Amino acid sequence: MNGASAPGARAKTVIKFIALTVVAALVCAALGRLSLMFERRRGVASSAGSVPVLVVIDAGHGGEDGGTSGADGTREKDVNLAVAKSVFDMLSASGVGCVMTRTEDKLLYDEYGDLSDYTGKKKVYDLKNRLRRAEENGDAVLVSIHMNAFSSKKYSGLQVYYSPNASGSAVLANLVQTTVRTYLQPENDRETKRAGKSIYLLDRIKTPGILIECGFLSNDEECGKLNDQGYRQKLALTISSAIWEYLAANGK
Ligand SMILES: [Zn+2]
Repeated sequence: MNGASAPGARAKTVIKFIALTVVAALVCAALGRLSLMFERRRGVASSAGSVPVLVVIDAGHGGEDGGTSGADGTREKDVNLAVAKSVFDMLSASGVGCVMTRTEDKLLYDEYGDLSDYTGKKKVYDLKNRLRRAEENGDAVLVSIHMNAFSSKKYSGLQVYYSPNASGSAVLANLVQTTVRTYLQPENDRETKRAGKSIYLLDRIKTPGILIECGFLSNDEECGKLNDQGYRQKLALTISSAIWEYLAANGK
C-alpha cells in the first residue's frame, strides 16, 4: 500500500507540507512580478534562464481541441492550462528550471512550421511537437496535465499514468499518486497505471514522463472543484511537492 507510513515520518511530512504551503503562498504573492521575468516566445514559457530545464509541463489539448467537458460547459483544455500554469509558477519560483509546452489556448501543430497545410494532420503534429518540445530539453521529466471523463458520473479521483521507457517514470507517478492521496484525496485508492500505445507522449518519450488525469469532469462535484481556483492551487501544490521530492531524490 503506497500511502502507509510511520507516524513520525508522517508528522515530518505534514510539517514539510505546511512549510511548503507557506512558502508557496508567499511565492504566489510575488508571481505576477516574477512571471514578467520569464521568457515568453511562440507561446512557450521558460523559467530556466541559465539553469538547466528539469521539468517540461504540458497542458493537454488547446485551440479547436477542447478535450473532454463537464455538464456545466467546463472545457478540459482550460482547466489543464490553469493547473499547468500553477505548477509552472510554483516550480519556477522555487528555482526549478521548467518550460511549458503551451501558455495559450491553441494546438501546437504549427510550432515548427513543418507543413504548409495541416488539414487532417493537426492532432498528429500537435502531439509530435509536444514530444519535440520535451526532447529539446535533454533529460527533463515530462509532466502532462489532463482531465478525465467517463460515461458514468459516479467516478472521481486523480489517476497517474507513467511511461514504460524510463524507470523514473513509475517512481514519479507513484510520488504524485501517493502525495495526492495523503493531502488532497484520502479516499482515492487508485494505483498508477503503465501507459499503453494509445498515450502517444508516454509511449514515445525516452526520458521520465507521466500523464496526470487530475479528476473527472463527468463527475459534477469534482468538476465544480476543478473550476475553483483555490482547489486548483492545492492540486498544483500537491503535484509540485511530489515533483520536488522526485528531483531531490535524484540529486537535482
Ligand atoms: Zn485530455
